Amino acid sequence: MSSFVIAIDGPSGTGKSTVSRRVAAALGAGYLDTGAMYRIVTLAVLNAGVDPADDEAVAALLPTLTFASPTDPVAQNHELDGVDVGQAIRSHEVTAAVSPVSANPAVRLWLKERQQELAHSGRMVVEGRDIGTVIAPGADLKIYLTADEGVRAARRHRDYAPGAGALQVDAVQTALAARDRFDSTRAHAPLRAAEDSVEVDSTHFEIEDTVAAILRLAGERGIS
Ligand code: C5P
Repeated sequence: MSSFVIAIDGPSGTGKSTVSRRVAAALGAGYLDTGAMYRIVTLAVLNAGVDPADDEAVAALLPTLTFASPTDPVAQNHELDGVDVGQAIRSHEVTAAVSPVSANPAVRLWLKERQQELAHSGRMVVEGRDIGTVIAPGADLKIYLTADEGVRAARRHRDYAPGAGALQVDAVQTALAARDRFDSTRAHAPLRAAEDSVEVDSTHFEIEDTVAAILRLAGERGIS
């Protein structure tokens, strides 16, 4: 298959990003991290001193934003106004504020066109919450990646750097559950499995097992 879209959706902490990047690299495909786009907008909102829950003020900021959306699965260089923000978009502050920003319909509409254009630009693995349902409903393969909540929290906890400001694993689990609840219950493009998605439960899987399972499903659909 010369061009394809693989949509990978699911809640936080399933290993979605690592898995998606490895699937893309194995297939020689591009990779789009739509969560990073919502995180960049959120960082800009916080930098501007705007309340993330103020839909109108956030919408007014959108035309002033300039950022690239990398599609190389190996080198993901995220820049906002020419400044490297790869670390900043993963901060606790951005993670805590990203859900209200991404529930804003103006933000979703603004990002949708760019996401759809990139999703359909060739051989692509696209990761997010609404890829199989809204961004690429005709995707060649839709994966809904899940894992037990405690396991997801432990994985997220390991991702965070230890030291000052480090959260305990139960605090990470509480925050993660709250974000998933917010993402699943918002009015616009909520997190949910597309009807024709395949659920992959990674609770007892290592990353390589999950990647292998997705590549097998892709192969069954003529994607190799
Ligand atoms: O995947 P990641 O944790 O980086 O996503 C950050 C947030 O961006 C999610 O919690 C969700 O609020 C939002 N998001 C979204 N739709 C997507 C991808 C991410 O609403 N397609």
